[in-house]
Amino acid sequence: MADTDMKSVNTALARLQSLDGRLMELDRQIGGIPGRRAAIEARLSEASGALEAAKGGAEADAATRRKLEREIEQIESERAKYLTQRASVKSNREFDALNAEIEQATERISAAEDRVLDLLERETENEGAIEHAGRALQAEESRSREDLGKLDAEQAAAEAERTETTGARNEAAAELGGKPLALYERIRRTRDGVAVVQLVNASCGGCYQAVPPQKVAETRSASKIVHCEYCGRILVKHEAAAS
Ligand SMILES: [Zn+2]
Repeated sequence: MADTDMKSVNTALARLQSLDGRLMELDRQIGGIPGRRAAIEARLSEASGALEAAKGGAEADAATRRKLEREIEQIESERAKYLTQRASVKSNREFDALNAEIEQATERISAAEDRVLDLLERETENEGAIEHAGRALQAEESRSREDLGKLDAEQAAAEAERTETTGARNEAAAELGGKPLALYERIRRTRDGVAVVQLVNASCGGCYQAVPPQKVAETRSASKIVHCEYCGRILVKHEAAAS
C-alpha cells in the first residue's frame, strides 16, 4: 500500500475513533439523564411531603384542641350539675362528696384549659410552618420546572447529536472499510471502546507506556498501522487524532 494511502487510513482511523469517543460520551450523558430527572422529581416530592406534614401536624393539633374543648364543656356541665345538687343536700357527707367532685372537675377543667392554650400557641407556629413549607414548595416547583426544562433541552440536543454522530461514524467506518475496520473493531472490543490513541511525548496515549523510537518515527510518518507493544492499540500522531 502506498504511503499516501496509509496516511489516509491512519487519518480515517483517528477520525472514526474520535466519533466513537464522542458517541460514548453522549451515551454516558444520555444514560445519566433519567437519574438526574428522578433526583429533581424526588426534590419536588420532598418539598410537597414537607407541606403535607406541616398541614397534617396542624390538623392533628386542631383536632386535639377541639376534643379538649368538648371535654371542658362536658366537665363544666357536670360541675354545674354538682353545684345544683350541693344546694339541696341534706348531709355533711353528701356535701363533702359533692365538694370533692366539684374540686376535681375544676382541676380537670383548668388542666384542659392549659393544654388548649398551649395548642393555641402552637397553632401560630403551625401556621408559620405551613406558610414556610408552602413557599419552599412554590420555589421548588419553579426550580424543578426550570431544571426539567433544561434537562429536556439537554437530552434533545444530546440525542440529535448522537443521531448525527452515528451517521458520520457509519460513513467514516464505510470509508475506512475492510481489514482496517475489522482490526479497529476488534481492538475496540477488548480495550474499553478505545482502539486508536495519540502518541503523547513518545508514550502510548492509552496505556502510557514508552513507545520505542522506531515506532515513534513510523507513527509520525503514518507510513503504516503502528500498534502499541503493550496494549495493542493503534498509535496515531497527535495532529491526526485531533482533526
Ligand atoms: Zn498502549
